[in-house]
Amino acid sequence: MEIKVLGGAREVGGSCLSVETDSCKIALDYGIKLDGEPKKLPTDFDAVIISHAHLDHTGSLLNLSKHNPTIVGAGITRDVTVDLLHDMVKIQTEKGNFDYNDQHAERIGQCWWVRDAIALSGMKVNLQHAGHVAGAKITCLEAEGKKIVYTGDICTHDTEILKGCKVETLPKKPDVLITESTYGGKVRAPRQQLLDEFMEDLLKTMDNKGNVLIPTFAFHRSQEMAKRIDTAIANGYLPRYNVYTISNLAHKINDYYNQNKQLFTKEIRRQKSPFKYKHVKHLYRIAQIEEPAIVICTSGFGHAGASLQLLKDWADNERNSVILTSGYLPPDSPLKTAKEEKFFKIEEDTYDVKALVKQIELSGHADQNELVEIVNKLKPTRTILVHGDIEQAELLSERIGEMTDVCIPQQDETIDI
Ligand SMILES: [Zn+2]
Repeated sequence: MEIKVLGGAREVGGSCLSVETDSCKIALDYGIKLDGEPKKLPTDFDAVIISHAHLDHTGSLLNLSKHNPTIVGAGITRDVTVDLLHDMVKIQTEKGNFDYNDQHAERIGQCWWVRDAIALSGMKVNLQHAGHVAGAKITCLEAEGKKIVYTGDICTHDTEILKGCKVETLPKKPDVLITESTYGGKVRAPRQQLLDEFMEDLLKTMDNKGNVLIPTFAFHRSQEMAKRIDTAIANGYLPRYNVYTISNLAHKINDYYNQNKQLFTKEIRRQKSPFKYKHVKHLYRIAQIEEPAIVICTSGFGHAGASLQLLKDWADNERNSVILTSGYLPPDSPLKTAKEEKFFKIEEDTYDVKALVKQIELSGHADQNELVEIVNKLKPTRTILVHGDIEQAELLSERIGEMTDVCIPQQDETIDI
């Protein structure tokens, strides 16, 4: 058996691995790198298993639309992925020539098998709950007498709306564990402490009648954030305030979530329409905002859309704040210099930042201790680290090197199993 790392080696972005036996060849994820030149991935797979609906795991799927692929993953992953592909078609078509249209995006949905288990020629594939976002799966496969576990993006702790992954239910002593290593070198503060810090920052700005910008992704982080603030106001933990979401996609995903309550925690399942918020309003345009306000909006990296506009409008006032909950920011994100150097540039214009810009990593990824715990519980013979910068992967390797054979592959490296 051969495992080839087609993307996501020593970096976050463009995740794709191929697993090939004598009788079958599958892809684990089919992502795109959001910065840099997109890579042409092979198309000759018997099946493509998708771990979850983030573009760095799904964004190349349009390339398969003319090949009648077999795509396997959760139903919600399919629905959100197709929406994101439509969005991609729209953005790329506006920019100029693009080889794909809305029908190609639809085609991907039609080729999707919503399954937790499939049998291919000489290979059995099982999907299990990964805890990273709604519908996220861990892939467990067996072929040629070998067991392989691929985490995709994984979270082992519970969040407010989603249960964490139960490591105990995964196959013990796999021959190979392929794991993400986004936070391979970082130990995060306990989640409750981060949440308290987040609420304190909100309260301070609210006391000063300031505006809060929360740039976030339309899928999952937006719902998590809106639900968090909605619940805090309902419980009297936060005062009443104007709270808005601006993202039509996020709004659509709220409906998917209401229709798929079984994916979430007991507390969420008990509520009639948990993602129909009482204190958070959906807006279509920035002009509808009544200040002061808390606004949850895309893009998550603040480089486009409502996030960028509000950053320009609000950054200059020290009563306002910008709260980032993602740990990663691309080098060209204005939020990066806004946070680190108190200014940002858009084309020729430079903007000063007087607002508080703060990063609180309420991430849906396992941190170093959780990743070590996964290795410790599963006891894999070999562990391949992907989806993490080289420094993060190396720091994790130092912690697990005595328990398992660690490999930090290069791009396009093939590993014989
Ligand atoms: Zn992800």
